[in-house]
Amino acid sequence: MKPVILTGLRANNDLHIGNYFGALLPLIDMAKHHADEYEVNLFMPDLHSFTTPIDHGNLQRDIMNNLRIFVAAGLPLDNPSVHLYRQSYIPAHSELTWILDCFTGFGEFSRMTEFKDKSAKVGTEHIGVGQFNYPALMAADILLYGATYVPVGDDQRQHIEYTRNIAERLNNKFGELFVVPKPVKEQHEFFGKDQGLRIKDLADPTKKMSKSDESGRGIIFLGDNPTEAAKKIKSATTDSLGKINAANRTQSGVQNLLQILALTTGRLIEEVNAEYNGQEQYGPLKAAVADAVSAFLTDFQSRLANVDEAQLRAKLESDEKQMNEIANTTLLKVQKAVGLRA
Ligand code: AMP
Repeated sequence: MKPVILTGLRANNDLHIGNYFGALLPLIDMAKHHADEYEVNLFMPDLHSFTTPIDHGNLQRDIMNNLRIFVAAGLPLDNPSVHLYRQSYIPAHSELTWILDCFTGFGEFSRMTEFKDKSAKVGTEHIGVGQFNYPALMAADILLYGATYVPVGDDQRQHIEYTRNIAERLNNKFGELFVVPKPVKEQHEFFGKDQGLRIKDLADPTKKMSKSDESGRGIIFLGDNPTEAAKKIKSATTDSLGKINAANRTQSGVQNLLQILALTTGRLIEEVNAEYNGQEQYGPLKAAVADAVSAFLTDFQSRLANVDEAQLRAKLESDEKQMNEIANTTLLKVQKAVGLRA
């Protein structure tokens, strides 16, 4: 049995190139890179998706669309060590969540920073109980498959610690039921925490490209028309220094364009910097980035349109069957330990 790496595929429908190069591609590279030595479980956290209000009428469409985006970005469907599944298709996630809830203190969940922040915003009267106890769902997601490594951001640190605590608590009480995932520090060492890639807003390169920018002028969305996207690049804010110096921190607009050029053409940033350093016109750089971004979007959009839907559905079906077997084996062990099964 190979150790298990597990991660949820969270995406939404207006991803920008920052999300693509900063989050999607690293995840897919991780899956490809580790599939020889690990089982890589990638799941769509659909139960989790309505801990905050969503449009339920669009959920099915959005789930499938998210999966297609991952496939178009290069997620391998033919690797038997990469497992793709939807959380709610494995009912053991919900069942184990209830059991974990019953061994968790109210205070333990009340202290979770994410819950405290969200409930402070909307008030305890309005915050969902799902938001309160979803760390138990997350623990079930991990423990059912005996996952050792789970890449998490700092906002999820407490939830990994809870997962370790509840696993050890039940192991101490009932004997070895669960594999305890590695502590957060080791998780970060394993995954190489945040390579620090930050694509900047084109209109205001002092801040990061973010979908919360309402004008959309500074953002390249994956769904943007390639010609319109090229126009956004050409009107990107630069500076009035009149000479490209990639090492100059005050040239954040130029640095951002060089970075985008490297990413969209698959070249090393050092090589791109060396090509443009010292140039006294910004026009040729902007033209090259505009062409590269437009070609990247054309290519991505065509891959998205051509995702083999039948292959994707077949992969989900076969992996969900296999994952149900693994998850049910763990669940049965727990059910026996707590006296629900003979
Ligand atoms: P968000 O939806 O803004 O929370 O972004 C999801 C993930 O995408 C983040 O955790 C980052 O890893 C990545 N990301 C978002 N914006 C950028 C950006 N401007 N540059 C690089 N990565 C980004």
